[in-house]
Amino acid sequence: MSRFISREAGGFAPYTPGEQPADQQYVKLNTNENPYSPSPRVVEAVSHAQLEKLNLYSDPTCAALCGAIAKRNELASEQVIAGNGSDELLFFAFRAFCGADRAAAYADITYGFYKVWAQFFHLESDIIPLREDFTLHLDDYMDSLGTVFIANPNAPTGMAVPARDIRRLLEANPNRVVVVDEAYVDFGGESCVPLLRDHNNLLIIQTFSKSRSLAGGRIGFAMGSSELIADLNRVKYSFNPYNVNRLSILAGAAAMEDEAYFQTCTAAIRATRARTVRELEALGFTVLPSAANFVFARCGQISGGELYRRLKEAGILVRWFDKPRISDYIRITIGSDEQMEQLTGTLQQLLEKP
Ligand code: PMP
Repeated sequence: MSRFISREAGGFAPYTPGEQPADQQYVKLNTNENPYSPSPRVVEAVSHAQLEKLNLYSDPTCAALCGAIAKRNELASEQVIAGNGSDELLFFAFRAFCGADRAAAYADITYGFYKVWAQFFHLESDIIPLREDFTLHLDDYMDSLGTVFIANPNAPTGMAVPARDIRRLLEANPNRVVVVDEAYVDFGGESCVPLLRDHNNLLIIQTFSKSRSLAGGRIGFAMGSSELIADLNRVKYSFNPYNVNRLSILAGAAAMEDEAYFQTCTAAIRATRARTVRELEALGFTVLPSAANFVFARCGQISGGELYRRLKEAGILVRWFDKPRISDYIRITIGSDEQMEQLTGTLQQLLEKP
């Protein structure tokens, strides 16, 4: 930190993204990216983009992109806002729906950015522990006074809660916003989108980074009542009106319109996940039930940190969190079948070594 940094900026702990080392080629299973390329329709749309128009700002309303998202989810365009990754929309939601008079409520083990944003905005956090078996119980949130942030499926556990549980929370707390981060929902979770019809305190945030193979395009979106979306727009227009670039607007709209490709890729990842879980269990791993494009697994014989290091030496990157309750686990992204065979083959060798 320089001597010029403000007390505010010097005072918080930034998020640590998954590593992207350039020293060699790794099998990259550490940031929950999709192993498959984006839809050919995305490639086509971006290749034919009028690059000479990059001298002009992008559409601040992202009409083409929000229109495609609204259509797919049977919503009005005013119920959708697009962002530079879902991280940006979550950030907007923290700004819009939390403050001096409203804490942020979230699990002790969940997406690490929630804590970072709570600190960024000097919020009080109501941290609600997952149960012993890492399940999240909505009953534990009923009495919290804060705006609730739930990742469903949760990260890094991969475990999901049914939409009916979230409905109970919405019904019991009509005067509080509940934000459901559905970054991984397309791999087996149950989306809360149908609940939007009856609940104007529900905000759902999704991303193109995982199930639509566009992590590098940085496109996320939020869905909610037109009033909640207007609140997020108020934050957006106080920060960065042109938050999604021209190429990403085209890419996102094309990806959203290619339903068949989306279904094929997500089904392939679910099938690979099922195989991977079977093989990890055969190797003696404990694997939490995952509805996401990653699994959270514990070896028993080798500690999480050691396993992470040995896999990295063998050219495979996974994610390890040196944190209470979960330091024995590693989070493994579901890649292609070949990548997962490499992983399980390497693990077998590691476990055979004394
Ligand atoms: N929510 C969760 C739970 C995540 O794991 C991630 C990915 N790191 C995000 C949101 C943000 O994803 P993106 O900004 O790429 O849309």
